[in-house]
Amino acid sequence: MSIDKIYEQVVNRNPGEVEFHQAVKEVLESIEPALEQHPEFVSAKIVERIVEPERQIIFRVPWIDDNGDVQVNRGFRVQFNSAIGPYKGGLRFHPSVYLGIIKFLGFEQIFKNALTGLAMGGGKGGSDFDPKGKSDNEVMRFCQSFMTELTRHVGPDTDVPAGDIGVGRREIGYMFGQYRRLVNRFEGVLTGKGPEWGGSLGRPEATGYGLVYFTQEMLKDNGEDLKGKTVAISGSGNVAQFALDKCLQMDAKVITLSDSSGCIYDPDGIDRDKLEYVMKLKNIKRGRIKEYAEEYDVEYIEGGRPWGFECDVALPSATQNELNAKEAEELIDNGVIAVAEGANMPSTPDAIETFLEKDIMFGPAKAANAGGVSVSGLEMAQNSQRLSWSFEEVDSKLQGIMKNIYRTTADYGQKFGSEGNLVLGANVGGFMKVAKAMMDLGVI
Ligand code: NDP
Repeated sequence: MSIDKIYEQVVNRNPGEVEFHQAVKEVLESIEPALEQHPEFVSAKIVERIVEPERQIIFRVPWIDDNGDVQVNRGFRVQFNSAIGPYKGGLRFHPSVYLGIIKFLGFEQIFKNALTGLAMGGGKGGSDFDPKGKSDNEVMRFCQSFMTELTRHVGPDTDVPAGDIGVGRREIGYMFGQYRRLVNRFEGVLTGKGPEWGGSLGRPEATGYGLVYFTQEMLKDNGEDLKGKTVAISGSGNVAQFALDKCLQMDAKVITLSDSSGCIYDPDGIDRDKLEYVMKLKNIKRGRIKEYAEEYDVEYIEGGRPWGFECDVALPSATQNELNAKEAEELIDNGVIAVAEGANMPSTPDAIETFLEKDIMFGPAKAANAGGVSVSGLEMAQNSQRLSWSFEEVDSKLQGIMKNIYRTTADYGQKFGSEGNLVLGANVGGFMKVAKAMMDLGVI
């Protein structure tokens, strides 16, 4: 079947799942040259198989709120591909979650995990539960109910979920507590755990730090350096906070942050004290980024996104489709030379096209934000050994992994005829590894 026909079939088989269609389209468009070189993949129907999840689980999550009323949410786990290792990928708790979002994330995760060089398959899960405005007790009751069902489907050698939007250390703790209680075993079924109960040092930092390590590699390869650069970051959650932290360590100036209500612009730069304020605001007080503008008397744009300011580097780190073609043009007009994706699929397809056409360095999510899952893989390794590595050891492994990922994507881009195109490089690089494994494992 031709690539176009396969895509058509994906759209027909998965009606209404627009984010999943978008993620599949991007990969299918990239891998055509690889398929031409490997006709055996075509006859073994690797592509038809890879776009179909191995297993999709949808379940009821009933829980009782603080008023004593019963609430019902929907839970998901999509176990997409386990050809190179146990399913691995985060859990997202956000009201926008439905099957199409989980499938797009799970599909991308297959290729991202392959790029890390670690033995991890692809999966993703979550719920339409909104942790915002809920008490700790409500979040705990929800997590316990969610995990009561998920426990049957996961395990340290089967499927190892982690965090994502709306799922941080607090939620992982409640879910791990419930799993441990149900199976009566203390084992590495989740990553992103607290360091006192099996977590890896460096995991909270990993996605943001990894994103900046990747960005630095990309810049250096093009004769540039992050030092002294002005950076626009979106989001103000886990990825954004630690990307900012690493930018400060590398002497770059970060001028923006955002949340789903709006963005702030701080032309003096968000320094370490201000970052500490943001961390308290978002992780403890669970407040809005608007409060930063009030605290430091800077501009706040209600409903705005941070792509309209002068900057050299942009790191979209909030959510999918948060940077469109018009905003890409604006960034370019404002002097951007490099964009690297901290969030998953934050740039729309036409925004990516704009960056590539204008020769802006562009690091796609599958490669640029793979630091999080990489350190999750290192957490699994530590759990299997019952050992804990030092922060320095984890961080130096993370740096090595991000350098390798950059090299792999750049080399694959070049090998398949499109030098500097890391989108193609990441898609083909990830695909080749999984496709070869699927060939070896037979028709499964
Ligand atoms: P968090 O929940 O910690 O933070 C998410 C941030 O994005 C918040 O500032 C949130 O604002 C904002 N946001 C969420 N939804 C929207 C929306 N619809 N419009 C605008 N802003 C929004 O999540 P993470 O930082 O962990 O995740 C951010 C991105 O990074 C996601 O795309 C995730 O898939 C990706 N990622 C995360 C990894 C990790 O290790 N955590 C690993 C790899 C990728 P608000 O508070 O208002 O909701």
